[in-house]
Amino acid sequence: MAGEPQADCLFCKIVAGEVPATVVRETDTTVAFRDINPQAPTHVLVIPKAHYPDAASLAAGSPEILADVLREAGEVAAMEKIAPEDGGGPGTGYRVVFNTGSGAGQTVFHTHAHVLGGRGLEWPPG
Ligand code: C5P
Repeated sequence: MAGEPQADCLFCKIVAGEVPATVVRETDTTVAFRDINPQAPTHVLVIPKAHYPDAASLAAGSPEILADVLREAGEVAAMEKIAPEDGGGPGTGYRVVFNTGSGAGQTVFHTHAHVLGGRGLEWPPG
């Protein structure tokens, strides 16, 4: 059933506490933890506790939880002092990325928002 934990899902195991992660925030519906292979000084993943394979399926199945994920991305940015109100220029402002599909770099098929910041971020992304 949509949203139910999947036995073979790494991020469901992080939600269950079966795989270790450096958790920085947790709510009733979300967990935020530091990426093990950071691509920027701040690189935190915000995931829904419910299992949906990608952002589009989460939006279709539980739009309120997708809103929770995005709200938490903002809370992480505030906690890390990389929100726009922390000043302009390189190092403030942040990027929220949902890689969707293997062709776009998705490797874990449990929705996750990458929250990246703490350095200048180029556009277009690679
Ligand atoms: O968007 P993508 O699916 O590639 O992102 C998965 C992310 O999960 C990677 O950035 C990877 O470093 C991270 N990861 C993690 N902890 C794990 C396994 C993967 O932070 N135990």
